[in-house]
Amino acid sequence: MQNTELKEDKNMTPYSRTNPFQAKVLKNINLNEEGSTKETRHIELSLKDSGLSYVPGDCLGILPENDPELVRELVDEMNWNLDETVIINKQGDTLPLMEALTTHFEITLLTKKVLQQAAELTDHTELKELVKLENANQLKEYIEGRDLLDMLRDFGPWNANTQDIVSLLRKMPPRLYSIASSFRANPDEVHLTIGAVRYTAHNRVRKGVCSVQCSERLDVGDTIPVFIQQNKHFNLPESTDIDIIMVGPGTGIAPFRSFIQERAVDGGDGRAWLFFGDQRSTTDFLYKNELEKYQQDGVLTKLDTAFSRDTDQKVYVQHKMLENSKELFAWLEKGAYFYVCGDKQYMAKDVHNTLIDIIEKEGAMSREDAEAHLNDLQKQKRYQRDVY
Ligand SMILES: Cc1cc2nc3c(=O)[nH]c(=O)nc-3n(C[C@H](O)[C@H](O)[C@H](O)COP(=O)(O)OP(=O)(O)OC[C@H]3O[C@@H](n4cnc5c(N)ncnc54)[C@H](O)[C@@H]3O)c2cc1C
Repeated sequence: MQNTELKEDKNMTPYSRTNPFQAKVLKNINLNEEGSTKETRHIELSLKDSGLSYVPGDCLGILPENDPELVRELVDEMNWNLDETVIINKQGDTLPLMEALTTHFEITLLTKKVLQQAAELTDHTELKELVKLENANQLKEYIEGRDLLDMLRDFGPWNANTQDIVSLLRKMPPRLYSIASSFRANPDEVHLTIGAVRYTAHNRVRKGVCSVQCSERLDVGDTIPVFIQQNKHFNLPESTDIDIIMVGPGTGIAPFRSFIQERAVDGGDGRAWLFFGDQRSTTDFLYKNELEKYQQDGVLTKLDTAFSRDTDQKVYVQHKMLENSKELFAWLEKGAYFYVCGDKQYMAKDVHNTLIDIIEKEGAMSREDAEAHLNDLQKQKRYQRDVY
């Protein structure tokens, strides 16, 4: 019944990826305490009057804007005329230059194609060498951690007008964020947990386009263009009586906040077990008070945490899983669903291997059988991943 209602709601909304809704910011706070090396924003947006809705596991797409300071540096570097208008697509639509560079084009990422086409617009021999087929590795190395401004500085002077350069650029892709709220617990709202991306590369401080916009240039009362991206592969079990195990360190906590809120609304007999981890318990325990309250209320049955920098020995979520291997396996045997969300490069792989270790040990299986067992769980949708 409820699912049908949601589908109908979605059909009624005029908003989509190509026609995003301007969502008003209701709240934007840093979840990390002073002294943390991280910044994680908790953002609440209003979906009022949009007709948009979502279920736990869905994502929110944001169409971000480039950093105005970076746009200004580009314009200064090239001595571009601010009053110019540029063509932004094959259909011949136009935008004022500043708007095009701020909202329409990607300026923070280089691609092989951009460099190859740019090589036609300069006499710089280094760039002409770099794009040669035999120098593919050097080209890849150059692209890593560099942006349009680097390229324009490194390989000028340019035999190109503004339009020639702008035509090299691709459209800014939207960024996706796992929704951190339950729609039924927060009607007309959507909450996000966004880690600000900042790093230094090639002697310049780099800022993630969307995460840093959300951190530095998004105030309560502002609006931001958003759309809902359904995720059919990451959902709560249909029955509220089924147990769930959730592994979500860092911003991986986001969809599990949604799961837990939904379970709090629904009731049911299913138990919930959360593994959370981050750097330090004093500064980085995201949503600590909420989670402890859910634990007191019995919505969250178990909460295990791993703070890697609290002790000399680095402790991660997979270590906490191993410490609890007997009980974790028992939950799986009783039909629990296992979810993992967050870092794809390291964490999700470690968690995957640890799951196999646990099944092998506690199920007294060979490595091969343990792997096959996990594959079965995946086929039954009892092992789901939302990793990025
Ligand atoms: C399904 C899905 C769900 C997601 N959910 C969340 C979520 O809940 N919370 C969340 O915070 N994020 C989430 N993300 C990630 C999010 O979509 C963005 O990728 C992230 O916020 C960075 O976007 P940005 O625009 O700030 O950075 P961008 O401008 O896109 O820059 C990020 C890029 O910078 C480069 N980079 C980053 N760090 C370094 C470094 N140290 N050295 C060199 N290069 C580096 C990498 O190429 C990286 O891809 C999710 C992604 C997906 C696909």
